[in-house]
Amino acid sequence: MAGRLLGELTVTVTLIAHTHAWSDWSAVTPSTCTVPGIRTRACVCGAEDTEALPLDADAHAWGEWYTVKEPTVNEEGEKRRVCANNPDHVQTQPIQKLDPPTEEGSSGGAWKSFLRFWQRLINWFRGLFRALVDWIRN
Ligand SMILES: [Zn+2]
Ligand SMILES: [Zn+2]
Repeated sequence: MAGRLLGELTVTVTLIAHTHAWSDWSAVTPSTCTVPGIRTRACVCGAEDTEALPLDADAHAWGEWYTVKEPTVNEEGEKRRVCANNPDHVQTQPIQKLDPPTEEGSSGGAWKSFLRFWQRLINWFRGLFRALVDWIRN
């Protein structure tokens, strides 16, 4: 009888006197863009407190970039990546225009024709020189 009474008394004391002494928040499951994270804290009395964390709008699980539209000389292309958590989460980025190949080709062409011109001039002088040497010998 006495033991039972003591038990009841202990319970009563616990309810009135004990103010939870919470530990720091721990065991954090981080939030993603679709699933709220969870954090918990505990008291020495064994009580546990759990709290849901707000969604983290930036915590996507991005896949690899893939090209949606190839860039051309005149237009930028586009690449895209999709979040593994929610396919509605899509990020796009422009791909730089291609370098115009005609300009590069023509400048290279000008250089080549310039070299060809000199080559021809040198050959012409060589021919003239040879002709002169032959004329002198004969
Ligand atoms: Zn407590
Ligand atoms: Zn996402």
